[in-house]
Amino acid sequence: MKRLFHLLAVLSLALGFAFSAPAQSTPYPSANLPKLYEDFLVKINAIPIYDNHAHPGYADDSDVDAMAAPPEESNVLRLRDDNPEFATAAKALFGYPYDDFKPEHAKWLADRKKAAEKSGDSAYFNGILDKLNVETCLANRAFMAPYLDSKRFHWVFFGDSFFYPFDNRDQTASTARYKKQMNVDALPANLAGYEDFVRSTMADNQKRGGVAVKFEAAYFRTLYFTDPAREKADAIYLKYHSGGVPSAEDYRLFQDYIFRVMVDQAGKLKLPMHFHTAVGIGDYFSLRQGNVLNLENVVRDARYKNTTFVLVHGGWPYEREAALLTAVKNVYLDTSFQSELLYPSQLKPVLKQLLTLYPDKMMYGSDAFPFNDALGAEESFWIAAHTTRTALAGALAELVSEHAISEDKAMELARLYLHDNAAKLYGGAK
Ligand SMILES: [Zn+2]
Repeated sequence: MKRLFHLLAVLSLALGFAFSAPAQSTPYPSANLPKLYEDFLVKINAIPIYDNHAHPGYADDSDVDAMAAPPEESNVLRLRDDNPEFATAAKALFGYPYDDFKPEHAKWLADRKKAAEKSGDSAYFNGILDKLNVETCLANRAFMAPYLDSKRFHWVFFGDSFFYPFDNRDQTASTARYKKQMNVDALPANLAGYEDFVRSTMADNQKRGGVAVKFEAAYFRTLYFTDPAREKADAIYLKYHSGGVPSAEDYRLFQDYIFRVMVDQAGKLKLPMHFHTAVGIGDYFSLRQGNVLNLENVVRDARYKNTTFVLVHGGWPYEREAALLTAVKNVYLDTSFQSELLYPSQLKPVLKQLLTLYPDKMMYGSDAFPFNDALGAEESFWIAAHTTRTALAGALAELVSEHAISEDKAMELARLYLHDNAAKLYGGAK
């Protein structure tokens, strides 16, 4: 038997193409592209999603996010509420009977959501996940809500409040609630005490169901963190812990120090760190300071090889830089926000690139968020899932049609990206 196999192997080598399918990739798709797309879309719709990043909740729930958009911000075309896709989403999810969101029509939808909120039943958001075939969803919220089922929605808490112990910025609301949670009345008397407060709050949040800690730091400061000596941070803490506002330079130095304490603790707790790494809302966002490459010195630092870093929103518009950073073993990314901002035809080339670099590092994400009383996180979940599934089917169909990868490989990549990478990272699918 063994000899027969050997003979066949020699024969097929000698005869070349005659025995094997052509494995030579080409720059153009074959005629089978439309059929492959249709087939893949059916299979991809059947894969349960693990959503790496979302802000589920009702529009008037102030714990949905740690920060809000200013009222006059510029809005990209697709995320304006006259986008007809939002009506399509509301029809698919609720049987919405209108094609627009004129105030008298939007009320139909807002009333429905008010009723669900009043009931407090966790079956409501579970039902949204079920309709979209989403198995598990990470809920990035200031605090968790009783109306979210903790079996389906896993908490990602915020770490930014630890950057602001000294004065009264927006962030102190969360710090105050963390202090209450940990039975701490005032700021600890010295830096060692504050480090202990930060470390123990992170551990406590993990015990309360936190599966990751998220940083929106890119909104407030550069993502470039220096590596200051402890004595310098100690001096700043001693000077300001009981009052006074440090200079911007001193404050940043203190943050850089305490950030590294958090990176170290996240590694010890095996608690992945999430970073906002894309252009942000609100018009004031600094592209240069928020550029994902600012994190390179930290994610490549050998001292932090036990800490997992997740580049949320995949760095867009620097998505290739973000993708290349995932060559580092403990770095991952997700495509949240891109899945709402970009149309399927625009997300398709992004996915085609990402999945052919480090496909075991790429994860689905929605960034679902409540826009207003009528257009909620529900419609946002729908847009992200629809955009991603169609774009993914298109990207994989092209790769197969161009003979770059096999059909089996395509489905393997789809499962990794939509579900398996995240399920493995956070430990267990359910
Ligand atoms: Zn987000």
